Amino acid sequence: MHTHLMPDRMPRWADKFGYGGFIHLDHHRKGWARMMQDSKFFREINENCWDPEVRINEYLEFDTQVQVICTIPVLFAYWAKPKDCLEISEFLNDHIAEIVQKYPKQYVGLGTVPMQDAELAVQELHRIKEIGLVGIQIGSNVNNKNLNEAEFFSIFETCSKLGLAVMVHPWNMMGKKHMERYWLPWLVGMPAETSRAMCSMIFGGVLERLPGLRVNFVHSGGAFLPTIGRVEHGFNCRPDLVAIDNPVNPREYLGKFWVDCITHDPLMLEYVLKLQGSKRVTLGTDYPFPLGDLEIGKFITEMELDESIIEDIFCNATLEWLNLTKEQFLQ
Ligand SMILES: [Zn+2]
Repeated sequence: MHTHLMPDRMPRWADKFGYGGFIHLDHHRKGWARMMQDSKFFREINENCWDPEVRINEYLEFDTQVQVICTIPVLFAYWAKPKDCLEISEFLNDHIAEIVQKYPKQYVGLGTVPMQDAELAVQELHRIKEIGLVGIQIGSNVNNKNLNEAEFFSIFETCSKLGLAVMVHPWNMMGKKHMERYWLPWLVGMPAETSRAMCSMIFGGVLERLPGLRVNFVHSGGAFLPTIGRVEHGFNCRPDLVAIDNPVNPREYLGKFWVDCITHDPLMLEYVLKLQGSKRVTLGTDYPFPLGDLEIGKFITEMELDESIIEDIFCNATLEWLNLTKEQFLQ
């Protein structure tokens, strides 16, 4: 789970909507494309970012059969006009649904919704369910609003009602413009963003009010799990600041949400497994991006973990998070 994919052809949204800021692809050489934000270069990507068959073969090299795919956070477009973001979301979701339909043993899909407009997001959630996607990916904040804001609750409530899983991905990183050098938005901002999302959903009572909501926080929960002692201590020593919307100790939620295993560090993964239990740690890769685990769990097989724990990480935890069965993928 936690792999990104996008269509190789997209409408020129800027021309269609009459304003800029959207991503388009410049296919400048065979098998490669530049992601462009208007005339600004964002990232160069390979065909493994859009070609489902190339990906299937690359995955097979690591004995991995199934990928949970979702879009790339830069395509969320939460900043755009809501109805335009809805149109983009529909386009991206239909594309992912097509791939899932064509390769049901290899792909499982998550959608995207216009988080900036709950009514349109809820509308798209119903469609997401109908077209066969099993959940959504959302950003760690929405135009700098935290996920506990009342306006987002109906979105989470609908996911819970429809049985759609949620994957929270860091994006729109805090402090970005003050730390452009050394890739700090990715190395420092992203782990902080994930902790921001987790603390918001816990302290804001979202997880408490929706115990059936299945949420996965990627990059192993970012900075949250390594700082749970501090977070809990803050909850205990300054309840007047922290426990104002939810009286439950944040540690109580460990093992209730999911995180992926992308730590790049066996010691950290051992710690995460201790806190979460192996049924709540999923095999994430962030494929096909270089900061991901592109050897797909190889470091886990070298950790001398029990077979049952490896099996939980490699499939059972994800199946449970997405409410799927292993049987449907047997070939
Ligand atoms: Zn990612």
